[in-house]
Amino acid sequence: MKLIQNIEDLSLAIQKHKSQGKRIGFVPTMGALHQGHLSLVEQAAQQADCVVVSIFVNPTQFNNKSDLANYPRTIEQDLEMLGQKPCDIVFHPNVSTMYPEDEIEYLDIDLGVLDNVMEGEHRPGHFAGVALVVHRLFNMVKPDIAFLGEKDFQQLAVIRSMVRQTNDPVQIVGCPTVREADGLAMSSRNVRLTPQHRAAAPQIRKALLGILRDKNTTTVAQAQQNALAALQAEPLFRVEYLEIVDKTTLLSAQSWDQPNGLVACVALWAGDVRLIDNILL
Ligand code: AMP
Repeated sequence: MKLIQNIEDLSLAIQKHKSQGKRIGFVPTMGALHQGHLSLVEQAAQQADCVVVSIFVNPTQFNNKSDLANYPRTIEQDLEMLGQKPCDIVFHPNVSTMYPEDEIEYLDIDLGVLDNVMEGEHRPGHFAGVALVVHRLFNMVKPDIAFLGEKDFQQLAVIRSMVRQTNDPVQIVGCPTVREADGLAMSSRNVRLTPQHRAAAPQIRKALLGILRDKNTTTVAQAQQNALAALQAEPLFRVEYLEIVDKTTLLSAQSWDQPNGLVACVALWAGDVRLIDNILL
């Protein structure tokens, strides 16, 4: 496994692999790796010949300064974990490598509804930053295929939309959410939960599973209300949103019968840690 920090070395390494006819599989991350990230690496190794993982805490996607400052950074441990996985290249650039310019110009793309609902509504500018960094990483890594988690369901939709609009020549693969034994979706932010908040956190998954149970026996609005009420009853949570939406358009669903299928998405604060999760319905 090779650790690379600058674009020139990355280009040389990628060119070498490509000249050997190898397909590049790419897993973009912000580090503080866990089994969820590692499952993407395993997927990449199954579908590509050379696996590149990037580790970069991207400042342009943080709309909250203290979230950026507090974001866990565990590069030594990350490299240790990746060393035991089928990972060929770790790209770990610094901020000036990714953003050499004085004034950052965002991509000229229209994310439409994707940028106005749920995460888009509650984290203004977040997806513009995500789209920009992923586009830049795609240009540098030149992957044939990129692996992203369904845990960040809306982000996956944003990246698909960005790739369509920029014509980045990459196939996007969404991978299932990896969970702790008690149902909590793995997240780099989980290490920041207090023991009390960590103990309460599995209720998120329970509330989402409740929606699946309610499906077809009650209305969409009622199922949403039931799940919301369950989470609001927990004094350690402050719910930002819980929505049941069309899987493709992310528009609010009025009935269970939608051709694209449905997904329920939730974001809440557990103390000063913001958690998101979702369930395909
Ligand atoms: P992050 O480091 O949080 O930016 O995540 C990097 C990638 O890992 C994204 O594509 C995430 O959706 C994915 N990811 C994060 N948590 C999980 C999880 N629990 N299961 C599967 N993929 C995940």
